[in-house]
Amino acid sequence: MISFPSIHSATAPAPAPAALFPRRNSLHLSSFYRPPPPSTRRHDRLLVRSIDAAQPYDHESRLLDRLDQSSKLKIAIIGFGNYGQFLAKAFVRHGHTVYAHSRRDYRTVAEPLGVAFFSDVHDLCEQHPDVILLSTSIISTESVLRSLPLQRLRRNTLFVDVLSVKEFPKNIFLQVLPDHFDILCTHPMFGPESGKNSWENLPLVFDKVRIGEEDSRVDRVKNFLDIFEKEGCGMVEMTCAEHDKYAAGSQFITHTMGRILEKLQLETTPINTKGYETLLKLVENTASDSFDLYYGLFMYNKNAMEQLERLDLAFESLKKELFGHLHEVLRKQLFGKSEEGGLQRPMLAKLPKNGTPFLPSQSEGFGSS
Ligand code: NAP
Repeated sequence: MISFPSIHSATAPAPAPAALFPRRNSLHLSSFYRPPPPSTRRHDRLLVRSIDAAQPYDHESRLLDRLDQSSKLKIAIIGFGNYGQFLAKAFVRHGHTVYAHSRRDYRTVAEPLGVAFFSDVHDLCEQHPDVILLSTSIISTESVLRSLPLQRLRRNTLFVDVLSVKEFPKNIFLQVLPDHFDILCTHPMFGPESGKNSWENLPLVFDKVRIGEEDSRVDRVKNFLDIFEKEGCGMVEMTCAEHDKYAAGSQFITHTMGRILEKLQLETTPINTKGYETLLKLVENTASDSFDLYYGLFMYNKNAMEQLERLDLAFESLKKELFGHLHEVLRKQLFGKSEEGGLQRPMLAKLPKNGTPFLPSQSEGFGSS
């Protein structure tokens, strides 16, 4: 066994000179030991003291540990489907205690994720989570919220939602939850597909709808938002109304285009362009979300209908533009010079006024160009 000189050696007897200066070229382990010069030896006592002096730092690190522990939350996820599970992994990764409850039994899914699953929501609420996070489908949110046994929760529990629409859950929360509960509405603008590798620079929209003034309640919101901030999300604070306006013009349009393209059953080809690859990716991204989610984007965002109408108009206008050009080309081919001379246009009657193309039959043959 190799033993090293004790740092308490100030009190130990001085080693014999032979042991202090081993023979040259000796491979004996003692040859690695070089005694400190006498002046250093006098500081041995100081070395002992320096360990004492380290105590406050140790104490500090323990305090930091305790502080870190105090920032850990007990988060209960209601709705442990696709998105609930995706978020749970991150919450666990950040050291928070995660509980879950869902309509279906997800015990076997929850366990390997380090999540405690409660089939009975009463049992979950009796754990007194700091945060109740709603991750149910948009259309079931109200019934799920109304079915929670609020009386079993601590009085100032923080309610958070991650719904893809924001004014709707905000209003439901304000209607259903007693004043003593805090409310934070959020929308992580990414999903299990787009955020599977990293959340870096992906936006988290949040609105602190109702947060009590006590430090502990303010800190709790901060600790929750910190999860996303530490993951590198772009933190965007805005009202739920602003969110819905922006989201209808961006997210709803994206999902709608993805679903239209899905109906076209696009297939990969040997000559895919980059643009086409993007479309295929869009279909893949949107098709992996449930139809409930898409329907919720439409049904519970009052701006969505307007966007759908704009999309319709845009498509019609584009068709008109195309057919308008075609109309001109056909006219030139049909009447050419005769039009210039102001003669009759017998064939023009065949071109419909609404811009729908008149496609010549083979027998009518408009020429080959
Ligand atoms: P979803 O189809 O919108 O919701 C599925 C979840 O809702 C499941 O947990 C399901 O529970 C629950 N649920 C559905 N109908 C229910 C009912 N009648 N009663 C009780 N629970 C019901 O799919 P999701 O992708 O998991 O989304 C969950 C929430 O996250 C939605 O509000 C969505 O807007 C939001 N979000 C999703 C994404 C995304 O990329 N997926 C991104 C941001 C935000 P069971 O599984 O137990 O049936």
